[in-house]
Amino acid sequence: MPDRKEHGTVEHRVCGAHIELHPAHLAALRVIPGDLPEAGPGELHGALRCALEADHSGRHYGLARSLPMDSPGEVWACWSGGRQPSGAISLPDCAALNPADPDEACVLFNEHAGEHSWALADPEEDALRSQLGLF
Ligand SMILES: [Zn+2]
Ligand SMILES: [Zn+2]
Repeated sequence: MPDRKEHGTVEHRVCGAHIELHPAHLAALRVIPGDLPEAGPGELHGALRCALEADHSGRHYGLARSLPMDSPGEVWACWSGGRQPSGAISLPDCAALNPADPDEACVLFNEHAGEHSWALADPEEDALRSQLGLF
């Protein structure tokens, strides 16, 4: 796996906790944040996956609504255990760039816990990509 980054002897992995949003929560997300037009269907994500580094403390965070390119952030839902999210919040993007590849920005939010996204191995995504024949 040439794109797998390691720091010392520890491999960092993405948390990857899953949750399916209840349709009512998904509907509520259409109007968060309140200062933007309602989300189109392609912007909302009903199947959430925690993007933080595994074994983080506190709640899971999954990308719930992708905001337009000129927005300074995205909408994240946070949840505990298998329960439905306790809320959704618009958070600014993490500004970090991969020192090994400055075109690759961290996909997480500002001041997230753990490693930046490019340093997190994601076995599930790797498997999906190889199924689809992507690199
Ligand atoms: Zn998590
Ligand atoms: Zn980051």
